[in-house]
Order: sequence, then C-alpha cells, then structure tokens
Amino acid sequence: SPPLLEIRNLKVHFPDDTGPVKAVDSIDLIVREKECFGIIGESGSGKTVLCLAILGLLAGDASFSGEIIFKGENLFSMSSRKIRKIRGKEIGAIFQNPATSLDPVFTIGDQLSEALIRGEGFSKAEVNTNLILLLDRVSIRDPALRIRQYPHELSGGLRQRVMIAMGIAAAPSLIIADEPSSGLDLRIKRRIISLLQDISRNASMFIVTHDLELAEKLFETLAVMYAGEIVEIADCKEFFKAPMHPFSEGLLNSLPSRGMQPIPGSSPSLTALPEGCRFFPRCRYAMEICKNKHPELFHVMGKRQVRCFKYA
Ligand code: SF4
Repeated sequence: SPPLLEIRNLKVHFPDDTGPVKAVDSIDLIVREKECFGIIGESGSGKTVLCLAILGLLAGDASFSGEIIFKGENLFSMSSRKIRKIRGKEIGAIFQNPATSLDPVFTIGDQLSEALIRGEGFSKAEVNTNLILLLDRVSIRDPALRIRQYPHELSGGLRQRVMIAMGIAAAPSLIIADEPSSGLDLRIKRRIISLLQDISRNASMFIVTHDLELAEKLFETLAVMYAGEIVEIADCKEFFKAPMHPFSEGLLNSLPSRGMQPIPGSSPSLTALPEGCRFFPRCRYAMEICKNKHPELFHVMGKRQVRCFKYA
C-alpha cells in the first residue's frame, strides 16, 4: 500500500549548556496505509520527540530539519493553523500522560464532544448519539455517568480508554500513540492492546513504546531506536524470532521470558555521543572498526535494515 507518512532525514536538537542535545538524529521511515508501525527503545532514546515532531508539537526551543510528509505534503512547510487542523482531524494522538490530552476543568463528555465536532463535523444533535457509540467502542460502560465526570474522577484504566477515545474521535487516518500501555496493570493493559488491535484495522498507527509485549502483539513493522537513531527496522514477527542488532538482542534478552539478562552499562549522553557506533561501549560483539566509524543502516533483506558492521 502507498505511504501515508514519510519521514526523511529528520533531526531534532535541543539547546543545552553542554551543547545541542541530539534527541532525534537523521531518522528516515515510512508508514503505509493501514499499517501498524511501532518504535521500541529505552526511555530517553528520542521516541517521544519523534511523536511530538509528527504532531507539530515540538517545544519552541527545538531546532529541526528534514521532512515529515503526510499525504504528500510536508508538515514543516504548513502554517500552524493548517497543522492544528490536520491534528484535530486527520492525525489523532494518544498520549501516555493524561495531563497533555485531557483538560482537568472540562467533563469527559465536553472534551469528547469537542473532538467529535472538530473532526467529523457533527452537529450538536448528532454528537450525543456518536458520543455513546464512541464510548462503547473503547468499552466504557455506563456512558451516561462517565460523560458527566471529570478526568480526576476516573481510574487510570478508564482515563487511558478516554484518551484512546479522544485519539480516534475524529476518525483520523493516522493515530500516533506514545506509550499507550504505560502505568496500567496487566489485565487492563491486555484490554487496551486488544482495543488498539481493533482500531488498527481501520487506520494507520504509529506507536512508540518500551513495552515489548505490546509491540509483539500489535506491530507489523518495528523500528528500534537507540541514542536518537534507528538501529534496526524489521517485520515485527521476524524481529521477535531473531533480532539482529546487538542492542535489539539485548532488549529481548532482558525480558523475563528470555532469561532476564539486562544490558550492561547505560545509553550515552545525547550531548556527547560516541564518534563511532553509539552502542560500542556496551556491545559484546564490538570490533576495531566500531570504535571510530559510525555505521550506516545496512540493508539485510526485505525490509530488514540494521545499523551494525556485523551486517556490512
Ligand atoms: Fe556492536 Fe560494532 Fe555492531 Fe556497534 S557496529 S553494534 S559496536 S558490532
């Protein structure tokens, strides 16, 4: 299927006393129609910044370059008014932090109605029926009660479902989700995953997470981020069968089901990145070349690309 979202050579840097923080460094990726594309990586690897960039929500002090092409148009060359419009209508967002997407002073009903009117252009009369349908889609029971409540009156699991409802209210063609399963207990998490699976049948999804269970169940294409760059792109099933990048291998080996071996060391500071491979200080396969030369993403086969000299 054709690309819906294409990111070309995206760099996002933030100023810092010790030099620019290279939060996102030369990212290229393509999300196709109806595809569920996901990014995994440790916290601080640049995943959230990538979501904010696609949503046109980067902080004012960020400097960025490259292109984010959505339906053939570069988001970076659009007016902020147009980006806001696209964000309400064609690109939906599900954030991990309720504070960024739910307003504490408005009821759930008000906020969801607003999203429905903005996106689908419903009249006030149509909104109520669709509000109930929307809550039903995210398995929220007792809608008449819920729409009168404020975000703080809901449990974490319910709030998360309301946020998903906000994200899909306008029937967007692309949904961006940042850690949609974070902070949820296992039972609720599994329900959220199946809800997202359901939603992904009708829209493209771009999800970032450090939750590998969510990734394995949901993603079709998966990219691994490390220290601001993509180190592996793969078909999700093939990835979980056989990760190729040493960092990917380490991530999977740290899972309880696979031996629970943590990767030694920690990721490098984004203001003082190693000159060669950014994973070099932690890599058990490191070779002489890795120390001073920065590896490119090598094509292995199919959609598989790996940023490691083992695959050069
Ligand atoms: Fe390890 Fe070298 Fe591959 Fe980097 S390029 S991940 S140091 S083997």
